[in-house]
Amino acid sequence: MSANVNTLLEALPYIREFHGRTVVIKYGGAAMRDEELREGFATDVVLLKYVGLNPVIVHGGGPDITTYMERLGMEVRFVEGVRVSDPETVEIAKMVLLGKVNSDIVSRLNRHGQPAVGLSGEDGTLFEVRAHPNAEQVGFVGEVERVDVDVLNHIAEDYIPVVASAGTDREGNSYNVNADTAAGKVAAALRAYKAIFLTDVRGWLADPGDPGSLRSRATVNEVVAALGEVEGGMRPKLGACIEAIGGGVQSAHIIDGSKPHSLLLELFTDAGIGTMVIPA
Ligand code: ADP
Ligand code: MG
Repeated sequence: MSANVNTLLEALPYIREFHGRTVVIKYGGAAMRDEELREGFATDVVLLKYVGLNPVIVHGGGPDITTYMERLGMEVRFVEGVRVSDPETVEIAKMVLLGKVNSDIVSRLNRHGQPAVGLSGEDGTLFEVRAHPNAEQVGFVGEVERVDVDVLNHIAEDYIPVVASAGTDREGNSYNVNADTAAGKVAAALRAYKAIFLTDVRGWLADPGDPGSLRSRATVNEVVAALGEVEGGMRPKLGACIEAIGGGVQSAHIIDGSKPHSLLLELFTDAGIGTMVIPA
């Protein structure tokens, strides 16, 4: 019993500090893997809203997109952590992201008592997307060029915005957008207090093969210096941390979303988990 009271007392200064603050949460992959984790995530986000934070969710849906592509007999390929996307891939990605992943997150948040609104880059002209610099290799992979946060601010007054990382360019071509990159841009555009990236590893590892090599703290300059060496899905994630901090976000966190309630532990306990990226 007293341990529970202590946990609440420990949380109190954080609740006070974060009241009214915007937190952008990138949700994807591992934290969506099973029913228990999905329910845990929804409970955590709803709790954040109840205690006065302003959570904004940006999500991917990589594993689900892969599952549906494989069911359709389509080839799944990645270059430097980016999904190679021909027009058919983009079509499936969009259908899965919006029709399945987004609506599942929204309905869970609704059920837990905080109504949510799902949207993608097209809604309210949230994202303007342009082709990735490496378009020759990766196809219709987009980069978010501009974020129009007006729609998010309106929604966030009463609802939890849940953003699927897809968008179109000025000509109306659809693109697959890396959700980490999109979350970094959204956090910067909103001038969020924090950006939190849920992933399937403890954080940024100095040696990707060694879970004991966690970089628990890094300045944005240290991340910039190391980025060239980082591979796979961690590269866009660290790039997004750089983007967020550059946009005025106070700290960006990469945490293990495969651990239940990692979001609450990161925000409301003294024991920081994962990697924290700070301005200097
Ligand atoms: P998500 O975007 O869903 O969090 P990703 O697979 O895109 O997942 O990115 C996380 C992955 O990045 C890890 O599972 C790991 O395989 C890979 N990775 C590559 N280099 C590193 C590194 N230095 N530290 C941690 N993870 C790394
Ligand atoms: Mg990823």
